[in-house]
Amino acid sequence: MSDNWSFETKQIHAGQVPDPTTGARALPIYQTTSFQFRDTDHAAALFSLAEPGNIYTRIINPTQSVVEERLAALEGGVGALLFASGQAATTAALTNVAEAGDHIVASASLYGGTDSLLRHSFPKIGITVTFVEDNNNPDAWRAAVQDNTKVFFGETVGNPKGDVLDLEAISAVAKEVGVPFVVDNTIATPYLLNPLKHGVDTVVHSATKYIGGHGTAIAGVVIDGGTFDYGAHGDKFKGFTEADPSYHGLKYAEALGPAAYISKLRVQVLRNTGAAIAPFNAFLIAQGLETLSLRIERHVENTRKVAEWLEARDDVSRVTWASLPSSPYKQLADKYVPQGAGAVLTFELPGGLEAGKAFIDALELFSHVANIGDVRSLAIHPASTTHSQGSPEEHAATGVTPGLVRLAIGLEGIDDILADLEAGFRAAK
Ligand SMILES: *Cc1c(COP(=O)(O)O)cnc(C)c1O
Repeated sequence: MSDNWSFETKQIHAGQVPDPTTGARALPIYQTTSFQFRDTDHAAALFSLAEPGNIYTRIINPTQSVVEERLAALEGGVGALLFASGQAATTAALTNVAEAGDHIVASASLYGGTDSLLRHSFPKIGITVTFVEDNNNPDAWRAAVQDNTKVFFGETVGNPKGDVLDLEAISAVAKEVGVPFVVDNTIATPYLLNPLKHGVDTVVHSATKYIGGHGTAIAGVVIDGGTFDYGAHGDKFKGFTEADPSYHGLKYAEALGPAAYISKLRVQVLRNTGAAIAPFNAFLIAQGLETLSLRIERHVENTRKVAEWLEARDDVSRVTWASLPSSPYKQLADKYVPQGAGAVLTFELPGGLEAGKAFIDALELFSHVANIGDVRSLAIHPASTTHSQGSPEEHAATGVTPGLVRLAIGLEGIDDILADLEAGFRAAK
């Protein structure tokens, strides 16, 4: 691969050559659990990481490896690792750094599943979290830091709130207090934003969404920039500086340098906790990836038209899409996602809960599903679905109100999209 290749070239070619055994040009699906060693010396070399190679599909597989290398190239990282889902990727990315007794500082504007993971599951394994409501205020992040804080976390473009995180301001605080900064870049995608270029250390995606793009496979990925030096903070990151008894006494920071984080993630966290992706799903993700730039351009073009059309109506009280001139996040959007803030937007129906439900029920082209990032246009009413659990205060932080409708604009003809929305508004009256 050439580092000088454009995004469009990398999304098709990075990480892949024609199959060395068969000449197959498309990515083969290596649907096998295990790989035969040449002899015992070869096996020993693979297990001790002295030589790279395939051992067992929970840990590494050639279909996965191509997709991982391609995503690392598209985000500008030193390595990537696929997981069975976005949730598995986030869980692994954070527990690779934070252990029982540690603390995480997170933006309060998060995807519902991630909010639940941090708020309810992490405390059960001894990891506490402070949520920063005023998430673009560096002082608020600094004030949340404790002696046991090990990592900062946020979403580059919040789902469903649609806010844009000031990555450079927050990464400056992370550097000052000596912790890595991990972000979920699902809505922006690597085509619209490369967080690693803005001081972020590690990027997570739900590849289920725009990277796969067709609503066919659940998948997640972690891409590491190799930028955070886990060995340079005394014994703060013991998991990286002390010998790993589960892996031949390996000291990740010392032995692997910039590859320490992504290697530990694979040979310790993924190997021991096991949320591996299936080769077939990795193949489906690769199919989506090849057209990512084209799809995102059209997703954003359609979304811009829908956002402007919604904003011009009197039966809509508020539209959140950060690239609208009226958005409080417009300046941040122009800096971080200048081509447009993705294809997810929300708007508020003044009629509240009942209007929201009537609107959704009247849609025909839009699918009523709990997903985003499909070629099809999707809609959901968070107050009666994804956010029907939890307190009103928790929902206020994620931006969910009773009349809020979330749209994920697809690739259909814009006139058909607008006509379907018009039918929703008639029903909501
Ligand atoms: C969907 C989503 C996730 C979770 O991903 P899954 O693949 O569904 O596990 C995480 N973050 C964001 C922003 C999402 O939209």
